Amino acid sequence: MTTLRLGRLEVDLVGARAVLAGRIDDSVSLGDLVAQLPVGPVTIDTSAVTFVNSIGMREWMRLVRGLRERGSTITLERVADVLMMQLNMFGDLARQVTIASFHAQYVCPACGAEAAPVVDVQQYAPLLRAQKAPQLPCPECRAAMDLGDFPERYLSVFKG
Ligand SMILES: [Zn+2]
Repeated sequence: MTTLRLGRLEVDLVGARAVLAGRIDDSVSLGDLVAQLPVGPVTIDTSAVTFVNSIGMREWMRLVRGLRERGSTITLERVADVLMMQLNMFGDLARQVTIASFHAQYVCPACGAEAAPVVDVQQYAPLLRAQKAPQLPCPECRAAMDLGDFPERYLSVFKG
């Protein structure tokens, strides 16, 4: 594993998989990552990304464009909720990648706990296409948690 420091972002590279942690903002030159990833399909995990701003999104687009231009398909795993909202705001960005799973803000109606569990896209594909978030078990009391935000903020990209 190679660890890169790009501004306020830390990137772990394992083969064709990049795990991003930290902030995607004006401190990051994400395009630099293209040359660090092997040719062929690429997977990007943003589970530990905590912040994305508009400049960060420009960097994100640079990364996606660079990877696609050389023929890589891009799978996103455990997309951070902050990035997921951006991808839903700019639908074109979501069409350039395959979203395998993503984090979303959930609340438990039984105990009031809040959490950001991972939603598996394949497992819940029909629900997601219908713009409905699956209920997921509460980490505190195991009751069924509901999405704690407007579904379109997370699910627009799955519209059939
Ligand atoms: Zn609960």
